[in-house]
Amino acid sequence: MIIVMNPGVKEEEIQRVVKKLKDAGLGVHLSVGEFRTIIGAIGDEKLVREIGLEAIPSIERVLPITQPFKLVGREFKPEDSVFDLGSCKIGGDEIVIMAGPCAVESEEQLLEAAMGVKAAGAQILRGGAFKPRTSPYAFQGLEEEGLKLLAKVREKTGLPIVTEVMDQHTVGIVNEYTDIIQVGARNMQNFYMLRELGKLTKPILLKRGLSATMEEWLMAAEYVMSGGNRQVILCERGIRTFETYTRNTLDLSAVPVVKHLSHLPVIVDPSHGTGNWRWVPSMSRAAVAAGADGVMIEVHPHPEMALCDGAQSLTVEKFSILLDELRKVAAVFDKRLGTVS
Ligand code: PEP
Ligand code: MN
Repeated sequence: MIIVMNPGVKEEEIQRVVKKLKDAGLGVHLSVGEFRTIIGAIGDEKLVREIGLEAIPSIERVLPITQPFKLVGREFKPEDSVFDLGSCKIGGDEIVIMAGPCAVESEEQLLEAAMGVKAAGAQILRGGAFKPRTSPYAFQGLEEEGLKLLAKVREKTGLPIVTEVMDQHTVGIVNEYTDIIQVGARNMQNFYMLRELGKLTKPILLKRGLSATMEEWLMAAEYVMSGGNRQVILCERGIRTFETYTRNTLDLSAVPVVKHLSHLPVIVDPSHGTGNWRWVPSMSRAAVAAGADGVMIEVHPHPEMALCDGAQSLTVEKFSILLDELRKVAAVFDKRLGTVS
């Protein structure tokens, strides 16, 4: 249920309602806006109705939540969520750029990619250490060795890192090394793992599943958030359709729809969305124009030698040109690309 307080309500009145809800065994989420305070009550709706909130004069309205997701929804928290990583922010007026190779292959490869994307203007370094490959015979990633290389390159460049976790047993080790934990498309509905991630305090980058509806995706985010971790970044990375010229069909309509439904930041991955480096710049520009809070782009210093996803990886030079274009697109919408501090 959502409890809308009167405009200009006093703090003690808010606390009185919060206490009443907590005493009844309900979870409470407070959203203090410039003009209004909204209290989200989490738990049995019947209980909320039974505690006589209507009789409290400082309450304007008590409304049911109409969506199946609660913590994720804008009904619950009308203002955009912004996560502070220290050196950069995710959400708000700045567009965050995450870039790097599909997979960590070696120290030289990762460092070259990291220095290149940093010089071009990226704020976050991506790179997979645990790789979800369709074939068991394909390169599976350097695993913990890859995590160590990511941490080493973070030391050298100052770029925070994002890397994928593939199962609940490795959540602990990935969490030790990374700044943002990525949940890949194939694991979007790995509910046990999502629950584990809910216990952490680091941001979770939740990719949309290959054939997940927007509602299923938001419900997956709800799993993480209901566990206590409120920092979820949603990432549209293309869905399966009948089209075969592109690897996936990048569903850019998800950006405005999900931003309408949820306060969470939404970023776009045009590399997996299209599967071909040629289409990455145009879809990145479109993502920023559609209102995305950032993009995640695969960049490899030598794509022709990549052990994974070379065909969709930009060279550092092409990536740098793209960021110049994105700066212009962002400016049209009174936004700007993030910078590294
Ligand atoms: C990735 O980002 O490297 C990846 C495997 O992406 P996805 O889960 O979207 O396929
Ligand atoms: Mn990839």
